[in-house]
Amino acid sequence: MSEDTQTQTISEARASILSVIGSRVTLVAASKRQPDDRIEAALEAGQRVFGENRVQEAQIRWEPRRAGHSDLQLRLIGPLQTNKAEDAVRLFDVIETLDREKLLKALVKAVEKTGAPAPDLLIQVNTGDEPQKGGISVDGLAALLKAARETYPGQVSGLMCIPPAEEPAGPHFALLKKLADQHELSTVSMGMSGDYTLAARLGATHVRVGTALFGARDY
Ligand SMILES: *Cc1c(COP(=O)(O)O)cnc(C)c1O
Repeated sequence: MSEDTQTQTISEARASILSVIGSRVTLVAASKRQPDDRIEAALEAGQRVFGENRVQEAQIRWEPRRAGHSDLQLRLIGPLQTNKAEDAVRLFDVIETLDREKLLKALVKAVEKTGAPAPDLLIQVNTGDEPQKGGISVDGLAALLKAARETYPGQVSGLMCIPPAEEPAGPHFALLKKLADQHELSTVSMGMSGDYTLAARLGATHVRVGTALFGARDY
């Protein structure tokens, strides 16, 4: 695809997603494993909020581009290992995947040590109780949230979930929205390429969309 055609395709896909989700929902461009020319096309189309799954991939992509785009917002949407906490707080504006006390402690320490502004935190909830998936259990949420509110020097602003792939997403989205309301959390990050319309209808404030925006990923 020529560069112009690529830019136009991504720009049109973005416009279509934005028209569906409306102005109250933020489109997070999930850019994992997308080639650089598509990232450039998204930036050219006006996209400024990006979600990355891996700290290192995000550093390589965004450290050189940060300077040219002061309005960029970077969100970590993939699992975070404690030994990457310092790199993560230096790079990201928002970390969406807090899911355990050990990681909370590492993030508190990382903010202290680096002196970086504390990224906003979202807690990832494992709404489907899937053993292989990140996220705190629904039962464990209150305790983790309490610890985060008591010890983290920045904002704890919301919840995030990735429903089980083989189940209808609606009940998971409804549950996450209910938990956010119960705990007076304003940010609800849910919905991907296949279900962002439903997520937006059920109360998402942020949808994380990859392939529907950029096209298929590079494996
Ligand atoms: C990859 C990914 C997405 C986007 O997935 P698509 O189906 O390509 O839209 C959203 N959220 C997370 C956490 C992801 O890892």
